[in-house]
Amino acid sequence: MRKYVIMGVQGSGKGTQAKMLREDLDLVHISVGDIFRWHVRQHTKMGAQVKRIMAAGELVSDELVEEVVRRRMGIHDWNYGFIIDGFPRNGRQAEFFMESYDIDAVIHLELPDDEVRRRVLSRRLCPSCGMDYNLIADRPEQEGRCDICGHELITRADDTPEALESRLTDYHEKTRPVLELFRRKEVVHDVDGRPPVDEVQQAIRKTLGLPAYRG
Ligand code: AMP
Repeated sequence: MRKYVIMGVQGSGKGTQAKMLREDLDLVHISVGDIFRWHVRQHTKMGAQVKRIMAAGELVSDELVEEVVRRRMGIHDWNYGFIIDGFPRNGRQAEFFMESYDIDAVIHLELPDDEVRRRVLSRRLCPSCGMDYNLIADRPEQEGRCDICGHELITRADDTPEALESRLTDYHEKTRPVLELFRRKEVVHDVDGRPPVDEVQQAIRKTLGLPAYRG
């Protein structure tokens, strides 16, 4: 069983890299942000609670996040392990998590803020199948349409310059200390998030001692 956390600033490729690991290693990919986005799309009670907070790029309350994580982990569908993305994001969440689960590794994707701004502001998402695109590096074949399912692409409500600055500040102030906490447990693997996707994946595999990525 493999239990991983993937951390990194917005746009560092956490979701993309986590999905690649998931497919190959049969891990369950748990993205707290994806769970919240699902609730917003489905207009659930929780969706109504978090919609405005997310659109402003602010953090959802720890109570709600912990409830979502507890419920998701409680499904116990992670026979081969999990990779959790977007959590923990502050000291309290990290303590909550470490009380219940021991972690094999924290993958930390490093990306300078300027590159984050460039990537995030050109990011597009398919709200139907979840595929993401980048207008610089990874354009859809037909403008504005998903290559996989043909649905119209959207910009995430929190991928605006204002929301991005708020998320960058939160990342540096609240999430970085979490990394230091994990560092003391000697589970952090730093990986350069700037190279192309496949290269980053290879670097992750190498540092975790996993078989190479075959594409
Ligand atoms: P993400 O896709 O991880 O960037 O998450 C999108 C948004 O969901 C964040 O900007 C927050 O509003 C909320 N969110 C996701 N994960 C957390 C978390 N661990 N703690 C608080 N808010 C979160």
